Amino acid sequence: MMKSFIHYLFVCLAVAGVSQAQTGPGALANNEPSYLNLRNIHVGQETIHVKNFTLKRDVGIFLFKNGVFRLLEPVKGKITGAVFSGEATFDLKPPIPVEQKYLAILTKGQPYQENFGGALLRFTDGTEEELRKAAVTDSTPDSGEGNGVLAEVQQQLKKKLKTNLEARLLEDVLSSHQGEKFIAFIKGRNYSNKTIFDIDPHGTMKPEEVSLLTWDDAHAGLWTVFHYSKEYAAGTASSSEQNDPFRIDHQKLDISINKSAYLTGVAETTITAAQHGVVVLGLDLFPTLRVDAVTGDKGQPLHFIQEDKDRDADFAVVLPRELKKGESYTFTTRYSGKDAISNEGGGNYYQMASARDSWYPGLSFWSFARYDMTFHVPKGMQLVATGKLVRNVEEGNESVSEWTTDVPLVAAGFNFGKFKREQGKPFKQPYILETYVNPEPPDVIKDLQHSGDEFEASGKGHVIWLKTLGSMSTVSLMKKAMGEAQLAVELYTEYFGEAPYKRLAMTQQTSPSFGQSFPGLVFLPITYFFDSTTRHQLGWEDAHGYFKVVGPHEIAHQWWGNTVGLSSYRDQWLSEGFADMSASLFLQAFYTQHGLDDYHKFWADQRWLLTQKNKEGKRPIDVGPLSLGYRLDNAKTGFDVATSLIYPKGAYVLQMVRFMLRDESVQDPDTHFKALMHEFAKNYANRSASTEDFKAILEKYMTPEMDIDSNHKMDWFFNQYVYGTEYPSYRLSTLSAQTPVAMWCSRSN
Ligand SMILES: [Zn+2]
Repeated sequence: MMKSFIHYLFVCLAVAGVSQAQTGPGALANNEPSYLNLRNIHVGQETIHVKNFTLKRDVGIFLFKNGVFRLLEPVKGKITGAVFSGEATFDLKPPIPVEQKYLAILTKGQPYQENFGGALLRFTDGTEEELRKAAVTDSTPDSGEGNGVLAEVQQQLKKKLKTNLEARLLEDVLSSHQGEKFIAFIKGRNYSNKTIFDIDPHGTMKPEEVSLLTWDDAHAGLWTVFHYSKEYAAGTASSSEQNDPFRIDHQKLDISINKSAYLTGVAETTITAAQHGVVVLGLDLFPTLRVDAVTGDKGQPLHFIQEDKDRDADFAVVLPRELKKGESYTFTTRYSGKDAISNEGGGNYYQMASARDSWYPGLSFWSFARYDMTFHVPKGMQLVATGKLVRNVEEGNESVSEWTTDVPLVAAGFNFGKFKREQGKPFKQPYILETYVNPEPPDVIKDLQHSGDEFEASGKGHVIWLKTLGSMSTVSLMKKAMGEAQLAVELYTEYFGEAPYKRLAMTQQTSPSFGQSFPGLVFLPITYFFDSTTRHQLGWEDAHGYFKVVGPHEIAHQWWGNTVGLSSYRDQWLSEGFADMSASLFLQAFYTQHGLDDYHKFWADQRWLLTQKNKEGKRPIDVGPLSLGYRLDNAKTGFDVATSLIYPKGAYVLQMVRFMLRDESVQDPDTHFKALMHEFAKNYANRSASTEDFKAILEKYMTPEMDIDSNHKMDWFFNQYVYGTEYPSYRLSTLSAQTPVAMWCSRSN
């Protein structure tokens, strides 16, 4: 009875699904036949008993002492997984010292070894052939621990990890080329029963192919990540490796946003395959922006994948045929949704921070592309975007603007609202500078003003409070944004060379707590435009000189992070550290009312940040090297520790470079430092750079005093401060007296 009831329900749902598929929008959503097979996959009939069977995947070594593999049902004739029950171990030793050291911290000095009785393997690399070869005829004990692991992992992928593994497997299932994906979900007994060992030729953490992670709440984090060990052996391991299956060349975007901030988009995306056999394209799109349809080069509807917005909503497009390496293809995505942007009242619109690089279908990490964009926003709103303004008109009840790009951009972005605009230019550079603020406060500020009224009305004497909030306006400090832009563009052009955009818009956003920088477009927190009294009364204190630094920091990102992109997560300090150090140049040059107090305080604050314990009791300086980037955040170290390392230590490292290159014998002691930075910014303009790229150019400019190992290499320096956990300081005995850190705080020029 119960069984038939469930069966009945299932049939009804299936029928409803079919009727929608034939008539409604999204007809080809999530129903490509092989995808459905992967989504609903079961354990098949084929069982393989093994004894003392060793399976090696890169430096990961599984020893299956005894037990049973049950292969999953084939999809399109391909086996994509197996469930293991029995007794086994998994050993891993990373191929490079920095990863060995970091893993040893997590294992408290022990070699990493996990024991387990159950595991799910998913693969497209032909693992099933190795399993079959290892088969023994006598039956081996089945621990039973593998029972249910397939269903459990599938549920967790959807609900917790929010990753559509089936969409990734489909790339290889539909391709005529052999896949190389291998991922093991290990029910470990030693460290975590939610352990994942993941290998992906397209990068698990791009571009690095191999990673080990855990995802139970108490131990969530990345334990180690590295390139294929063969790449280290061959000397080819590099952050600059391009192993995405395709690149995006051009995006033609047509975006409409109505009064309630509902976004409707049409994206015409041109890609080029970077390998043979590309047929499924994995893309990044904000989960609440729902795809209605995808069409191909002849206007034909294409299959696509986008599951529930609260689950594994990864977007993927199934092309009508395989592409050869170097072949281009253009497809069109129609999508719409709320929550990527919100209407904050008073003509203020706020883009979710996490939607700012995923409001159009793109790649998830630093990749340069060209953009042509048309935006439709409600009449009276002004929109400012990355690139060059081509046309800006009011049509009916819409304000329409068109934007194009002269150079490839790392990302496209926009801001809009009932903006007041002012224009200026730097004193020497051929550059257009603009500031955009909204004179009308968002509702959250209006509410504060009203609560001020109530306080006075109730006789509690908040007269000053009311007066301040009553006159609060972001317009009066537009001149501060313009002034900072004028000075910073001059200063940074002198230090780093010309940025390619020739325009910069400083814009207000309703967030009180962060700034952000896109090519030619800076977002400043609304609090930036308040005076210090108002900020104090709102509870936004000027912690560590934040409001002096946020503008110059974001402007510096026009060079670091935008003009020069990042090759991988390991290079984050080239963006944030360089931007912070640039801000210190700004303080040194312009905040001179009290000598260099602000500049010195900035560097004292950086030290404080590095040595301040967080609530997990960790000091950022101790948790690991700069080159681990945001990976340093995990359940044990805390999820705030990486930021407190990358920004200040990254800034320190560049400041150390500056002082090592300092030459007091010439009129401008920064001459060599400027030459270094000019060359770095010019060589890597409009593309990505890695830590190693920066090191190579530094080695051209290094002084004899810096050649500590007499080999014309800066390895000693990078090994200590970038790949290592040394506190910024010098081997004083071997360097000239001009360079010690102590000198930074006593210099007056
Ligand atoms: Zn930044």
